[in-house]
This record gives sequence, structure tokens and C-alpha cells, in this order.
Amino acid sequence: MKLTSISELGEFKLIEHLTKNIEIQNTSTIMGIGDDAAILNFRGKNTVISTDLLIEGIHFDMSYVPLKHLGYKAIAVNISDIYAMNAIPTQVTVSIAVSNRFPVEALDEFYDGIKVACKNHKVDFVGGDTSSSKTGFIISVTALGIAENDKVVKRSTAQVDDIVCVTGDLGGAYVGLQLLEREKEIYKTSPNLQPELTGNEYILQRQLRPEPRKDIIEAFAELEIIPTAMMDISDGLSSELMHICNQSGVGCRIYEEKIPIAKETIKQSQEFNIDPTVCAMNGGEDYELVFTISVSDYEKIKNNWDFTAIGYITKDTGVTQLIARDGTAIPIEAQGWNTFK
Ligand code: ADP
Ligand code: MG
Repeated sequence: MKLTSISELGEFKLIEHLTKNIEIQNTSTIMGIGDDAAILNFRGKNTVISTDLLIEGIHFDMSYVPLKHLGYKAIAVNISDIYAMNAIPTQVTVSIAVSNRFPVEALDEFYDGIKVACKNHKVDFVGGDTSSSKTGFIISVTALGIAENDKVVKRSTAQVDDIVCVTGDLGGAYVGLQLLEREKEIYKTSPNLQPELTGNEYILQRQLRPEPRKDIIEAFAELEIIPTAMMDISDGLSSELMHICNQSGVGCRIYEEKIPIAKETIKQSQEFNIDPTVCAMNGGEDYELVFTISVSDYEKIKNNWDFTAIGYITKDTGVTQLIARDGTAIPIEAQGWNTFK
């Protein structure tokens, strides 16, 4: 029998392959695999649940990630998936596998970060599991949240002619990572040189201590807006747009000139000779939200600088296009973080 290598499938196809034919057996499971979080309903209340793994050497590098930030980020990336459902996170569990090379004081730092994130987002830390690990540090976080029944937002419900919006700015976390990687390489050869990080606080913070957009979910409630579809931007805008379009059976046209990118991100990406648009489209880890909204609702947010309209939804199923500054239409391809490369 010919064996299939995981890299032939890639992350998204692997998940699809492993999870096909899973039957839902409980009426309390409203929606299972396939979105930022699953939707459960107990006694009439919508609960959402999401889980993520963070692996040393894959998702973070202990040589430059402060443990307190790592704790914060572990919670942040999980509750970002809850916000992406237009839900409010309420509880988390945190499981760790850790080797003897970590002193208790290091874990204290990590847990301090977790506690700050939980406090900032009013989330209760209610459990987990602890194991030893032979090699790296492994973190698994599960987050639960609650949404009013008619307010939960999926990826699969974008409508033709909706406006596509993003929050904040994109690409910063990726450029921050490039900077940290560069300084790590320099340190390896010249350990006496001081790292050149000053002036780059913004992109470093975007990488090391992302802040999930609780404020946006609160703004939606206040403005009485329910996006038609939404995701958080963890793998990069390209990949997320493809998920929304494929799952909604629609297409999109996105305008390069509209994509919000911070001036710090532009400056540093130019220094690295990377196109800032590529950082925004394919970088990932920004933990902003990408959502679609009906034209009538767009009126309510168009003057708010936290939201940027970047394009619109078309009826051309699966045709996701980036309209470059010179007017050419480029097919959007998901690069995302392919863990199996
Ligand atoms: P995110 O980037 O938001 O973490 P993923 O791409 O990891 O989303 O997951 C997409 C969907 O697939 C989610 O519904 C998730 O629960 C599900 N999923 C991912 N990995 C597995 C797995 N190994 N087994 C079952 N479901 C999975
Ligand atoms: Mg995941």
C-alpha cells in the first residue's frame, strides 16, 4: 500500500480528510468542525468552543519570546476565535507539557501572562492538565464563550454584494517575527552585539503580545450590527478570505490600495525587501477580524477608523481576486502557515 505523506495534503486538506463522515449525535451540537469555534446549545443558550495548540519551535521560539507574553498570547489567540463568532469568551482551560529544563519561576511568568489576559478579557481560568515533555514546551488552550442565539456569526454566510471589512492593520506581526528572527541570527554569530529593536515596538508588540478585538464585538453590539460572516486573521488575510468565500459559495474582489498597513510595518518590510501587501495577505498572526457586512449596515461603521472596507463579495463562486494598484486582477491564493512544509 502506498502511504500518503501529510505534506501532500497540507493542513486544511488534512483536517478535512480526518474529519469527514463525523456524525453529530447530540441535538445540543448546532455546528461542529469547520469554523473558528463549534456552536453548542444547552437549554436555549448558544455556547461556542475553540481549541488551539502552541508548540515550541513551531509556534514560538524560547530564545526571544518572553514567557509572560507567551502566556498572554496563548489566551489571546484562543479567545480571538471566540470573538470571531461574535461571541463573548467566558472560560478557558490551559494544558501544558513541560520539560525539566524549565524552573518553576519560568512557569510562574507564563502563568502571570495567562492571568493578565484572563483579567483583561474577563475570562475565568477553570482547568487544564499538566504533563512532562521530553523535548519542547507544549501548550493547549480551550476557550468557551457565549453568544445570543441570533447573533452568532459563521464563516459560511457571506452574501453577494456584501462589503468586506477588516479591523486594525495587517502584516505587523509577520514583520515583527522577521525582525526577531534576524536579531536571533545576529546574536548567534555575535553574541556581544545588542539587538536592534528600538523604534520597532509596534511590530514587536503585534508579534509578541497580540490583543484580540473584544472592542469590536462590543462595537457591533452597540451599533446593532451583525456581520454576515466573520473570521479572525490568524493565518493571513488570503487564507481567511478563501475560507469565507469557499464556505459561503461566493467570490470576492479585494483592492490592494485599501488594505490597512501601519507605517511601521511598511518601513520595516521595505527594509527586509518584502512587499508590505504580501505581509498583510500572507503573514498571519495579526488576530484582527475580517468580516462581511450588508451595504445598509456599512453606513453605520464607515466613519469609524477601526474598520476598513477593502472590497466586496461577488457571485463568482471560488473566484477570490486581489485588484493590484495598477488595476490587474491577481488570484488570491492561501499560503497561510503550512506547518507541514
Ligand atoms: P483556526 O485557524 O481558527 O485554529 P483551524 O484551521 O485550526 O482553525 O481549524 C479549522 C476547523 O477544523 C475548526 O473547526 C477546528 O475545530 C477543526 N479541526 C482542526 N484540527 C482538527 C482535528 N485534528 N480534529 C478535528 N477537528 C479539527
Ligand atoms: Mg487551529
